[in-house]
Amino acid sequence: MTSAHANPDPDIRSLLAHRRLDGDAESWRRRIENVSGGDVEKALSAAPGSYNPDRLLALVSPAAQDYLEQMARLARSLTLQRFGRTIRLYAPLYLSSFCVNSCRYCGFNRRNESARKRLSIDEAVAEARIIAAEGFRDLLLVSSEDRKFVGLDYLSELAARLRDTFCSLSIEIYRMTAQEYAALFAAGIDGVTLYQETYDRAAYAYYHPAGPKADYDNRLLAPDAFASAGMREIGLGVLLGLTDWRTETLAMAEHAHYLMKKYWKSRVSFSFPRLRPASDVERSRFGHLLSDRNLVQMILALRLCFADAGLVLSTREPAELRNHLIKLGITRMSAGSKTNPGGYSGHAEALRQFEVDDTRSPARVAAAIRAQGLEPVWKDWQRVPPAPTPA
Ligand code: SF4
Repeated sequence: MTSAHANPDPDIRSLLAHRRLDGDAESWRRRIENVSGGDVEKALSAAPGSYNPDRLLALVSPAAQDYLEQMARLARSLTLQRFGRTIRLYAPLYLSSFCVNSCRYCGFNRRNESARKRLSIDEAVAEARIIAAEGFRDLLLVSSEDRKFVGLDYLSELAARLRDTFCSLSIEIYRMTAQEYAALFAAGIDGVTLYQETYDRAAYAYYHPAGPKADYDNRLLAPDAFASAGMREIGLGVLLGLTDWRTETLAMAEHAHYLMKKYWKSRVSFSFPRLRPASDVERSRFGHLLSDRNLVQMILALRLCFADAGLVLSTREPAELRNHLIKLGITRMSAGSKTNPGGYSGHAEALRQFEVDDTRSPARVAAAIRAQGLEPVWKDWQRVPPAPTPA
């Protein structure tokens, strides 16, 4: 086993290996099962908001399910303290559904024979205008691994055309190089979301049988590459349903803690994507689908260990659950999402990455947020152009 202590500046690979969080789920499951009510009470008696692996272990355990109401009260007041009565709103814009990867959980996997679609830059700008007309100023550009089409030049040009309209532009695409991330940051992209999908190496190999994404380490090191390129927002996530959510939460938290210490100028956020039905994906084949109650516990546990982390919830989740969760720690939500390229301008037939559940319009989601006494925020950041150099 790699010793994390021997290296004064260990990378995330050796940290996860040292704690056996990149595999060995069985021994972690045994530890989690052995957590007692007393351990949970001890975890809840400490000041909320700071990360401690043992504390998180207690809060994700089955024993903590008897304490969800207390956890919810603490999470709610901590979130109000740190973020105020606000929920940021964003929209995803899908650019391409052509993909070279074979992820077993995704409708865009290359084995799926359904017709694909790519947006030209003009078409993407037209979709973005529709999104802007709904009120959004925070846009997430999403693409499958289609480097030949959605490459650095494409993204840089698109960012240049969108950055006057959108205050925040971020990407959720394939893994790029540090140089490419730096070029995109210079072009106006300020955040990157990149899910590890699963931190378990064996499960990762199974779910990613072919294509560039099959390289676990390359993906694991991606947040270092984009954080060191200056990205303001670092988005982490695991695809919930692939393996045991409790051990995945422990591994993702360790990753977040490492990134927060090393790239303290950036903000780390967690997403909670649960596996959804999709073309060519049979959901019943996945043995680790988690219940609403488990999802709530995961969100509360992470909030109680990371006071300042953004917690992001997408339209994968049903409206009623989203209404409930905005009171308990969520800070950012998508609304009115289309998960296919061209979806906003009426190409309803184009292949979707997955089916959304909350199909309410952005205006209805904003009204639901207000009804909870919170304020929907369409814009909370403005890139300031560099001051001219004095002559
Ligand atoms: S998850 Fe991403 S990389 Fe994998 S098949 Fe889907 S679009 Fe491609």
